[in-house]
Amino acid sequence: MELGCHLLKKRQKSYLMDFKWSKEFAQNLDNQDELSAYRNEFLFPQHNGENCVYFTGNSLGLQPKGAQAALQQELDDWAKYGVEGHFEAKNPWFAYHEMFAEPLSEIVGALPTEVVAMNGLTTNLHLMMVSFYQPTTERFKIICEGKAFPSDQYALETQVRHHGLNPDEVLVELEPREGGHTIRTEDVLKTIEEVGSELALVMIGGVNYYTGQVFEMQKITEAAQKQGAFVGWDLAHGAGNIPVQLHDWNVDFACWCSYKYLNSGPGSISGVFVHQRHCENPDLNRFAGWWGHDKETRFLMEKGFNPIPTAESWQLSNAPVLAMAVHKVAIDLHSKIGMAALRKKSLKLTSYLEFCINQVSVKHSDSAFEIITPSNPNERGAQLSILVHGHGKQLFDFLTKEGVIADWREPNVIRIAPVPIYNSYEDCYRFSVILDAAVNA
Ligand SMILES: *Cc1c(COP(=O)(O)O)cnc(C)c1O
Repeated sequence: MELGCHLLKKRQKSYLMDFKWSKEFAQNLDNQDELSAYRNEFLFPQHNGENCVYFTGNSLGLQPKGAQAALQQELDDWAKYGVEGHFEAKNPWFAYHEMFAEPLSEIVGALPTEVVAMNGLTTNLHLMMVSFYQPTTERFKIICEGKAFPSDQYALETQVRHHGLNPDEVLVELEPREGGHTIRTEDVLKTIEEVGSELALVMIGGVNYYTGQVFEMQKITEAAQKQGAFVGWDLAHGAGNIPVQLHDWNVDFACWCSYKYLNSGPGSISGVFVHQRHCENPDLNRFAGWWGHDKETRFLMEKGFNPIPTAESWQLSNAPVLAMAVHKVAIDLHSKIGMAALRKKSLKLTSYLEFCINQVSVKHSDSAFEIITPSNPNERGAQLSILVHGHGKQLFDFLTKEGVIADWREPNVIRIAPVPIYNSYEDCYRFSVILDAAVNA
């Protein structure tokens, strides 16, 4: 780890020394980029006849060109076979979700039996808490982020109330230190230690949606489990963005959505990881449905739930095939590339974007903005959050008018995500030129 960090720092330094703020330089990086051809697999929104600078893949990833044909295939099979499509379709619907086990397990560092594609993300957070948050009078506290994504906050609050408890007495919120923007690992570990034997669950976004901070998941998982707690990670901003090793890190559960870095379309299917040791425990409480029941006897429709000894046992319903058809196109692209190659490009792409933004910052010495995402590439994925001082919304509106699609968060943060599967170095350069013009204006 020490050596890895050192090498990474050295590597990043060498990028920085070599980077130049010019269009030719950016285009040259694109020419050397082994993944550059994947940009052509996606459809970009247009601005004045040109691709937008699309930097919101952390909110909704772009549409893969193959999506339409894949969707049409299922519609055709439905027309042709009706209910028989469950077995006769090109990709039989009965076992449709099984196609995701292998590729998803590679994306999140799991065994194929530990992952399943199902439901929406927030639904899955609730299902996981049904299994992994079972408070007692001695052990009932939950450590979470102070400004968690609202849906996660509501899920946590209402789960706590569901058990007849008071959220103010249960939820222990992690906060940055005074004047800081990100949460220090040492502070998380200290909180875990302090809550001690009262700690039932730690549930945090593995990559914070607001700042882009990547948490030290392995360390935090280990520390919380030492206190006897379960640990779950919301990987909405992690899956397909940063490499994780959920199985080896001994994580209890994780959930993610597929429409951000996994490009599977608006509201598309979520994914869940449950560690093998829990999958194989039939006594672990879960809210069940027929698609979680033993496959051999599912259609006997007998009394008594008999869970499949895999993450599939948390499934409630038969697969939503139309959403999954697009998910499959996107996941196949990700599989073809692999997380290692994606991350390799991502590190360099985000560093180049940071470099370009800093050039703009240096030009305007009374700096109009600052990047609050960690500058250490190990502590971030494909996102930079820019805190804008002064006329933030005006600056953002200027960017929008010039063909940048970015994300505005009240009161004053612009989030941008250079996504390695389809964004280019030239996108980064173009963004900085428009930002420069925006600051001038
Ligand atoms: C995007 C996101 C969600 C969205 O939840 P859905 O149930 O998919 O609508 C929830 N939590 C986090 C942390 C997110 O980033």
